Amino acid sequence: LYVEQPLAPGQAVALSGDQAHYLFSVMRLAKGAAVALFNGRDGEWRAEVAEAGKRGGVLVCDVQTKPLLMPPDLWLIFAPIKKARTDFIVEKAVELGVRRILPVQTRHTNSERIRQDRLQAHAVEAAEQCGGTYVPEVADLVALDRLLAGWDAGRRILWCDESRLGVSEGLAGEEPGPWAILIGPEGGFSDGEKAKLRGLPAVLPVSLGPRILRADTAAVAALTLWQAALGD
Ligand code: SAM
Repeated sequence: LYVEQPLAPGQAVALSGDQAHYLFSVMRLAKGAAVALFNGRDGEWRAEVAEAGKRGGVLVCDVQTKPLLMPPDLWLIFAPIKKARTDFIVEKAVELGVRRILPVQTRHTNSERIRQDRLQAHAVEAAEQCGGTYVPEVADLVALDRLLAGWDAGRRILWCDESRLGVSEGLAGEEPGPWAILIGPEGGFSDGEKAKLRGLPAVLPVSLGPRILRADTAAVAALTLWQAALGD
C-alpha cells in the first residue's frame, strides 16, 4: 500500500478515506493484521494494524522488508501523445527504472495539457505493481525550449531521432552518470528544435533502427537499450 507519510520503526501511519475503506471494510483487516507499506523513499515496511474503524485506522511500522531500490540517474523526457499511450509510457518508464519523468511541449506535441496528478498516480500504481520501492516524480508539462535553455551540461541527452549511430554503438564507452532520454511526438521534432538539439554539447543523437517507431514503442526501446548499456 502506498502512503505519503515517512516510514520508520514504530512510526504510526493514519489512514482514512478510500484506503481505510479498502483495508478495513473490503479486506476486513482487523487489529494485528500485517500490511506492506511503501512511500517511494524509505523502502518497503511491514506494518501492523493498531486501530481499525469504518472511517479510518492506524498502522504502526514494524520492520523494513525491502530497501529502497533506487534506479540509475536516468530521466525520460517525452512529448505527451494520446492519453492511453501517455499512461503506457509512464507505466513502462517506472517498470524499466527511471528517476524522473518529464513531459515536454514541443512544436508538434499532440496534447497541450496533461493531468500531472493522474500521471503521478499512475506512476505510484506501476511501482506498486512491479514491486519497486521508488516512485519517480512526474514533472509538470514544460516547453522543450525552456527545459533546454536551463539544461545542466553534466546530464547527457540520448536524443532519439534520425542518426546513423545505433544506441549500443553510441553508448559504448560512455559513463553511467546522469542521463536523459528524449523522445519526440508523433509528428517528430521541428527543424528549429533539431537545430537547437544539434548545438547542445550534452546531446548524443541516436537511431532506434530503420523503421519509424511510435513514440511509446520508441520510449520502451530506448529505455531498454540504455539500461542494457549503462544500467545496473
Ligand atoms: N514523423 C516523425 C518523424 O519523421 O520524425 C516520426 C516521429 S516518431 C512516430 C515519434 C518519436 O519516436 C520520434 O520523434 C523519435 O524520438 C522516436 N523514434 C521513432 N522511431 C525512431 C527511430 N527509428 N530512431 C530514433 N528515434 C525514433
